[in-house]
Amino acid sequence: MKRTAVLLSCLAALPTLSHAAEWEGAQDPFQLYGNSYYVGTAGLSSVLITSPAGHILIDGASPKAAVQIAAHIRQLGFKLEDIRYILTSHEHYDHVGGIAELQRLSGATVLTSAAAKPVLETGKTDKGDPQFGNDMPDMTPLAPVRALRDGETVELGPVSIKAHYTPGHTKGGVSWTWMAYENGRPMNMVYADSLTAITGPGFRYSGNTVYPNAKADLERSIARVAALPCDILVTAHPDASGLLEKQAKQKELGKAAFVNPGACVSYADAGRRKLAQTLAGEK
Ligand SMILES: [Zn+2]
Repeated sequence: MKRTAVLLSCLAALPTLSHAAEWEGAQDPFQLYGNSYYVGTAGLSSVLITSPAGHILIDGASPKAAVQIAAHIRQLGFKLEDIRYILTSHEHYDHVGGIAELQRLSGATVLTSAAAKPVLETGKTDKGDPQFGNDMPDMTPLAPVRALRDGETVELGPVSIKAHYTPGHTKGGVSWTWMAYENGRPMNMVYADSLTAITGPGFRYSGNTVYPNAKADLERSIARVAALPCDILVTAHPDASGLLEKQAKQKELGKAAFVNPGACVSYADAGRRKLAQTLAGEK
């Protein structure tokens, strides 16, 4: 089960196999806040940000999940052809493997980091990927792909989304921030990349030749995510931030169910604990 191996690879703690099977499981799409919608599956996030000038999608999950994401977008009443940009969190199969199909359906340009660009364009995992050597299936090469600089913003109509490079889980990880509004009330939205120190055969965060900065990168990214203005957090895997549990509380709490200004700090803390555990295991 190659796919299972890869799906298992992104979580802080290894889930059971039955949990992994749920990741591509059904999940109804829902509004997060204002123009921002969750369109991913039960375990793989994807967020649609809409505007009169066109839409932006963050992540395309796995190839199998892409069909569900497309259906969710249509179910919400939006057109795939109106997606102008597809943004990426990190260059692993379970977050970007589905983008090929979504790019085919939309004609969107993929926007990513400088380090992730060659992986997306070739479909081949980088040899410096901390999980290189695990079962990483090749992905369908993407085109066009454009690299954004760290701190650059994507502008589309009234929408402005900022790229924050957050490498460490992979070399090319990016987290994204934007503002969403309801009745004039703004919320700081965050789509945070995976911050987990997971390794493949022979890779050591405490020292290696293929990605010497891995530990320093991840430490910096963890601090960076903790410091983001953060009202509503979506993580690359929704269970890493309890997103679907929050959605279940919507009936009683309304949109307030999603709001937690401490969410980014808690998420970063979990990444810090996992890194300490990984480093301890390398001694
Ligand atoms: Zn990953």
